[in-house]
Amino acid sequence: MPPGIPVTAYVALGANLGDAPAALRQALHDLGTLPHTQLVRSSSFYRSAPVESSGPDYVNAVAELHTALGPYELLTGLQGLEQAAGRERPWRNAPRTLDLDILRYGELELDDPVLTLPHPRMLERAFVLQPLAEIAPTLVSAEQLLKVEKQVISRMTGL
Ligand code: ATP
Ligand code: CA
Ligand code: CA
Repeated sequence: MPPGIPVTAYVALGANLGDAPAALRQALHDLGTLPHTQLVRSSSFYRSAPVESSGPDYVNAVAELHTALGPYELLTGLQGLEQAAGRERPWRNAPRTLDLDILRYGELELDDPVLTLPHPRMLERAFVLQPLAEIAPTLVSAEQLLKVEKQVISRMTGL
């Protein structure tokens, strides 16, 4: 398919197996190599205890992309990067080497099982809202941050 008009999209990155910071650094690099896609900026890395999940702490970040890929093409591209990082899905919320979720794709709203936009659970998650607020403060309200303030996450320094 020919590229469309570029759209600003936000992608949440998460990992909690192996060298998670290295997986996120690699993924940030790889996002910019998707066709018709540029990495515009990325947040700091944040560490959080697993929510509805198990295993070691998570490392999370959010990236802003400009992409001329359509939303489903972008999802397919992200799933390719997850596979390349060795992602397996043995059970729901299993620990993972790399998870890439589309938080927003421009102003698009979609509600189907393959792709729901904005991401339906993003407002429940401090590990999404805090890094998103860092790079796109107008997209997250103080009230939304307050609702997740009890979730302990810490910005990682010295990476
Ligand atoms: P959660 O969505 O609660 O963060 P998860 O990331 O662990 O859970 P996955 O196993 O990675 O869940 O994905 C399950 C399915 O979610 C994917 O196959 C994908 O089709 C679908 N999906 C729906 N909306 C989105 C979205 N906005 N970004 C990424 N995947 C999505
Ligand atoms: Ca996820
Ligand atoms: Ca996912």
